[in-house]
Amino acid sequence: AAVRSLDFVAGAVSLQTLPAHDLKEAVFIGRSNVGKSSLVNMLANRKSAAFVSKKPGKTQQFNYFAVNDFSLPNNRRRQSSGGKKKKNASSSPSWDPPGSFYLVDVPGLGYAEVPKAARREWADLLEAYLATRDQAALAFHLVDSRCGPMPVDRDIFAMVKRSLARREGPPLRYVLVLTKADKREAKKNAVPDAHDALRADLAEHLGDDLARDIPILVTSATTRRGRDAMWRHLKHAALP
Ligand code: GDP
Repeated sequence: AAVRSLDFVAGAVSLQTLPAHDLKEAVFIGRSNVGKSSLVNMLANRKSAAFVSKKPGKTQQFNYFAVNDFSLPNNRRRQSSGGKKKKNASSSPSWDPPGSFYLVDVPGLGYAEVPKAARREWADLLEAYLATRDQAALAFHLVDSRCGPMPVDRDIFAMVKRSLARREGPPLRYVLVLTKADKREAKKNAVPDAHDALRADLAEHLGDDLARDIPILVTSATTRRGRDAMWRHLKHAALP
């Protein structure tokens, strides 16, 4: 799996203003500091800055990043410039174009500083997105393996449960991702414990039937653990 390009394309603050397109969307949900940017950079083989939204801070909006979309103007520039250009190169890439999809960053969950009414509004919007957005094919919910699910994560469990029950469009795959596993590994058995604790928490909040089928991936942006597993889910759910 390869990410040849990752471009910020849009930020949307309502369902009506989400970009119109036919590609699939893989959405990344998690409280701030959970390790989201690091994980996306690891997936994309970028050192940094690939996944920094244009409006930093506590912005509550859907940030859209196009993966491998060579119809974008800056990609066209990228392909036609530079020393690697072959003679008589056509406008299409010389390698097999990898699949295109959108990464959607959902920031701004669980900020204590954001007024309660605004947090409620944003949570409702995310729930409506998960329930009704046909392009949404995969939701990665990131949980820090050191602290386990926090109150905001439990809110997300409940939100996901409600939206999956309401959803009528194409299936949406929900995958839990434990982040920063390298930090837990110093302690013996800490990672398996975090995994089991999360599994139990899921069963409590989602019910055994739904919880049983939800994959839990263990990842680390530092050691690149879990990269292949995340890509398998991306390929399976988000690529045509
Ligand atoms: P975001 O706010 O969710 O985008 O989180 P960041 O990706 O910015 O990460 C928050 C902090 O955790 C930063 O200081 C990262 O260096 C650190 N971090 C993120 N992922 C890992 C990881 O896998 N291992 C370790 N040890 N630190 C990580």
